[in-house]
Amino acid sequence: MPAKTLPFDRTLIDRIAADHPTPFVIYHEDGIRKRARDLNAAFAWNEGFQQYFAVKATPNPHIVAMLAEEGSGADCSSVAELITCRRLGITGHDVMFTSNNTTLEEFEIANDLGAIINLDTPHHIEQLQQLDHLPEMVSFRFNPGPERQGNVIIGDPKEAKFGCTREQIFEGYAKCAEIGITRFGLHAMVVSNELNVDALLQTAEMLFDLAIQIHERTGVKVECINLGGGIGVAYRPEQSEIDLQAFGSGVQSLYESKLVPAGLAPVRLMMENGRAMTGPYGFLISKVINQKSSYKNYVGVDACMSNLMRPGMYGAYHHISVLGKTSEPESQLVDVVGSLCENNDKFAIDRHLPETEVGDIVVIHDAGAHGHSMGFQYNGRLRSAELIFNDAGEFRQIRRAETFDDYFATVDFSSVPVLART
Ligand SMILES: *Cc1c(COP(=O)(O)O)cnc(C)c1O
Repeated sequence: MPAKTLPFDRTLIDRIAADHPTPFVIYHEDGIRKRARDLNAAFAWNEGFQQYFAVKATPNPHIVAMLAEEGSGADCSSVAELITCRRLGITGHDVMFTSNNTTLEEFEIANDLGAIINLDTPHHIEQLQQLDHLPEMVSFRFNPGPERQGNVIIGDPKEAKFGCTREQIFEGYAKCAEIGITRFGLHAMVVSNELNVDALLQTAEMLFDLAIQIHERTGVKVECINLGGGIGVAYRPEQSEIDLQAFGSGVQSLYESKLVPAGLAPVRLMMENGRAMTGPYGFLISKVINQKSSYKNYVGVDACMSNLMRPGMYGAYHHISVLGKTSEPESQLVDVVGSLCENNDKFAIDRHLPETEVGDIVVIHDAGAHGHSMGFQYNGRLRSAELIFNDAGEFRQIRRAETFDDYFATVDFSSVPVLART
């Protein structure tokens, strides 16, 4: 199997690990910034193009702020994510609120921030009317149902709880215009972790056609079209990253062949990528703490599913490198496991790795999105620290590891009756 390159060497990790016990996640600042710039460059042809970072992927405020420095807005779907924006000073149309199964309170918080409100259903228009002022800009999330396939991560669109039908879209825009909303966007999020440019272009084409139909049917002209997120991560070494330039120019051709002749241009394009912005630039650093053989061979590491649940949850592949041994032959076949009392607490099943020994540092690649953010405390395994480093070899901690005090913070032991033992 071809190797995946690491943007750091053993020296850096040894320097960090001297003060920061494993496991921890470390993000590569230059990688994240470059990805943000590359995406903006691919859409430089579109005046006002805006990427909104899907905060749920990596909700660390340092990362959200760093991406904001690169011109990114924030795509939020929960109150905590909106509060993150508020505390970072990300407000107004730099915030996109794309929620589902939403409460009035959530709309209030988003609207107070001045966010673009991306409605999951026309039923929510009623809630908008209860706000103390109407949102300046509203968009709807289109779900194409049986017209599109989706993929494993996001599911089959017609089975997906997200978004509304074509008829609901027409009804929604007409109704919003009627109650006095004046600025509109349009949105869909149909694929996730997609490495095929054509699948992403299909979403653009579908939305451009729909924008034209919305104009014909309701008279509403959308001023922005949000292509959603979904740019994939090349998790496997044999996969290649998506060609952002090719994607950007593919969208440009569709824009010119559809929106321009329909008289709808200029339209600002938007995206709300999460995974692609940070996924490849985060590494879960863990240490081999045990090795055992029973019916299979196991390498036990000090990270577990609570640091990265994608392999356990969807059988997702994450490449694993043994630091300092990347050029050695992959002579053992192992499962790489954590310590949870759950048999799906495995980072890899039947993986070929170089010979390992206790104390080796194991690097789990592409853990920068949906890694720490999906962390949980089951079995009393706590969430790790997050750090960031740059190409100059500087590093800093951007979130400390949880402690047992954090774990017990929500319980008042003094209210627990003292056990009577005889
Ligand atoms: C998760 C999510 C995204 C980001 O998806 P990626 O596949 O990480 O790019 C964008 N929009 C919405 C509404 C989401 O829920």
